[in-house]
Amino acid sequence: MKKLLATAQMLDRQDGLGGFRDQFHFPLNPDGTEQHYFCGHSLGLQPKSAAAALQEDLDAWRRLAVRGHFEGKLPWMDYNDTLSRQLAGLCGAHRAEIVVMNTLSVNLHLLMVSFFQPGPARRKILMEKNAFPSDRYAVESQLRFHGLDPADCLVELEPAPGEHLVEESSIEKFLEAHGKEIALVLWPGVQYISGQSFDLARVSDAAHRAGAMIGFDLAHYIGNLPLSLHESGCDFAAWCHYKYLNAGPGAVAGCFVHERHHRDHDLPRFHGWWGNDRASRFRMAPEFVPSKGAAAWQLSNPPVLAMAPLRASLEIFQAAGMEKLRQKSMAMSAFMVEGIQSHLGEFLEVLTPSDPEKRGCQISSRVRSGREDGRQLFEYLEQRGVITDWREPDVIRVAPVPLYNRFEDGYTLLNHMAEWARITGSPARPSP
Ligand SMILES: *Cc1c(COP(=O)(O)O)cnc(C)c1O
Repeated sequence: MKKLLATAQMLDRQDGLGGFRDQFHFPLNPDGTEQHYFCGHSLGLQPKSAAAALQEDLDAWRRLAVRGHFEGKLPWMDYNDTLSRQLAGLCGAHRAEIVVMNTLSVNLHLLMVSFFQPGPARRKILMEKNAFPSDRYAVESQLRFHGLDPADCLVELEPAPGEHLVEESSIEKFLEAHGKEIALVLWPGVQYISGQSFDLARVSDAAHRAGAMIGFDLAHYIGNLPLSLHESGCDFAAWCHYKYLNAGPGAVAGCFVHERHHRDHDLPRFHGWWGNDRASRFRMAPEFVPSKGAAAWQLSNPPVLAMAPLRASLEIFQAAGMEKLRQKSMAMSAFMVEGIQSHLGEFLEVLTPSDPEKRGCQISSRVRSGREDGRQLFEYLEQRGVITDWREPDVIRVAPVPLYNRFEDGYTLLNHMAEWARITGSPARPSP
């Protein structure tokens, strides 16, 4: 363990991104010291600049009232464009392909309204067996909305027996065999339990070869791995901004709609006045004239005060650079995985793929000794100011986030885990 600490400290000294840590607020222990935070995959930390950004918008409202729509440093009319421009860079997309609106589950519904168009033969949705519940509820209710029976039309791909990951090759094989029945594939960018990341272009190609539409849920991908959404070719994507994007609880979410759909006037879509082209929006005419691109999916005028922290957060991502963050993230996750395997292998089984290309920063492990002990590990860590995340029945998830975690935080986590292992003694051997 001593050697591990020295390695962590050396890596921290060489880290060109170490300074970004100071731009975030850390939750505190009762004695006032900072906690070791590994839950950025669930709720990212608050950027110190968020309060000032929010205050700016509050001031504009106080000083300008209704004129704030058109005047001030960042008129509310253009707020969304500013965010789309910032996000386009992070997403590898054209600005017109991005829109910031609503929340993730809402956007999944709005996008499925457009991109799930069941016909007589092709009427099923393919997703993964262990999908995030909200995504599954959304898909199931969309099927029912079209008068379809989820028992027949919701197809869930599961890992091969004895495996816990679904490989891209399995998706390809499935679609080659059954693709004719699939109208839409809804797939995660990063699987939220295992931390496995998918090759978005490869999954998109497989779906398109089968004649299906493809949409990605990027909740655990954005701000975690570099994106080339336009090039990936997917039809749409949706994500939230409160995980790796650090924009605060329930933050306004984001969507991508590929350029190839921007001029398709036959695409069904739910409309509201904010999706109307800006030039004619305030003529208040009865005819809907769609905005160009993803902006046409907007319904309401945007919640500006809720968007301020996102603006602050995107500036930090721009300053740090996603490629550099990814390099550090790969080094940190490797440090964690190697640390777990060499010091805790008897207690923890790493579920996240060992290939760094197939994961982001989240590392998930199964506690080998079973349900009771596993939860105790999570609580043991929490009592020592190390914040991780527990998924029943036996998975502990930790995310060393390159923007604000240090290698030494990773060491501290491993060291506490090793202490716990020493105290609880040798676990039962894993079942075969
Ligand atoms: C976090 C997350 C959600 C949460 O949905 P909200 O609408 O933002 O509450 C949905 N799906 C996935 C895959 C997630 O990771």
